[in-house]
Amino acid sequence: MFIAAAMVLTTLLGMVTANIFTRSTEVADTETVLTAIEPESQPDSSMRAAASEESQIEEIILKPNVKEQKYAPTNNPNDTPYSNQTNIQSTQTRRKIIVLDPGHGMTSDEMSDEEKENQGWTYTDKGWGEWRHWKTGSRTEDCEGYGCSGRAPENGSCWYPIANGDRDGEGDINLRNVMYAKQYLEEMGYDVRLTRDNNSNPSMTKRLKSCYPNGDKYEEPDADAFVCIHSNAGGGRGSAYIEMSGVYDQYGISASYADDGNRLGRCINSAIVENTSLGEYSGGTIELPELILFCKSPITIAYLEIGFFDNDSDMAILDSEAEAIGRSIAEGIDAYFNG
Ligand SMILES: [Zn+2]
Repeated sequence: MFIAAAMVLTTLLGMVTANIFTRSTEVADTETVLTAIEPESQPDSSMRAAASEESQIEEIILKPNVKEQKYAPTNNPNDTPYSNQTNIQSTQTRRKIIVLDPGHGMTSDEMSDEEKENQGWTYTDKGWGEWRHWKTGSRTEDCEGYGCSGRAPENGSCWYPIANGDRDGEGDINLRNVMYAKQYLEEMGYDVRLTRDNNSNPSMTKRLKSCYPNGDKYEEPDADAFVCIHSNAGGGRGSAYIEMSGVYDQYGISASYADDGNRLGRCINSAIVENTSLGEYSGGTIELPELILFCKSPITIAYLEIGFFDNDSDMAILDSEAEAIGRSIAEGIDAYFNG
C-alpha cells in the first residue's frame, strides 16, 4: 500500500512540475480586420464560471496514508486546504471556488490617474477606459478595435470609457449584498474570492483575474463561477439577470458557456424572487449581450441586476433585506451546482 501511495505521490508531483512549465497557448488571431471606427459609448459592466471535472484518482490518493500525502485534500468544510495547491486542484476533490464581483465602486472622478492605472484601466487617445473584447480566440490580448468579429454593442464601440461605469451609490449596495453572499457560501462549503472588498473600482479585465490561481491569467482558470452583483436604475422595479445571447469566442470557454451562464443567472434570480420582497423585473431577463465580462470571462458567468436603487420602494427592500438577498445569491449558486 505504501509503495502504491508513493507512486501516486510521485506521479502527482510530476504533474505539478509539468503544470508549472506549461503555459496555455493563445490562438493567434488572423481574421477580421475591422477598419470602421465605431462611435463611442454605451453603458454597462460585466462577469461567469465553469464546472471543473474531478478525476477518479482522488479516490486512490485520499484513502491510504493521508498524512504522507503532501497535497492530500480534506473534505472538512471548516478547513481551507487549497490556498497553496492550485496546480493540482483539478485532480482532486476540492471545494468549488466562486468569484463574487460587486459591480462599480468609487466614481472615475474620485480616482487619480495612478489609481486608474493600478486598477487596470488603460489610457489611450480616447481617454481612460478599457477594451471590451479579447481578440477572437484569445484570452489575454485586447482587440483594440480589431480582430473581435466587430461585435461591439449595436451603434457602440470596442472601447469602453471608464466614466460609463460611474454609478453614485450603487457600488456600496452591491458590496453589501456580496458580503452576505460570501458569508453564506462559505458556510455551505464554498471558497469565495472577491474582485474588490472596499470602495475601489477595478476594470473588468482586472476583476477577471480572480478566475485564475494567484491572479495569473496565463495559468488555467481554477474558479468555477464568476457572479456579478449589480443593482439597476432608470425606471423599473424588481430583480433580473442579464441573458447571454451574443457571440462569445474567447479562448477556453465551453460550448455551453452561454447556456450555463443563463442557467446560473436564472437559479440566482429565482432564489431572490422567492425569498425576498423583490419581484421579477421584465420576466426576469435583460438583454445586454455584449457586456465586457461576458466577452472576456474564461469561466461560467452570471450577471444579476438586483432591484432598482433609484426607486424608493426597491431601495427600502435593498436596505432592509440585504441579508436575505445575500443568502439567496448563495442558495441560487448552490442550486446551480447541486440542484
Ligand atoms: Zn472588440
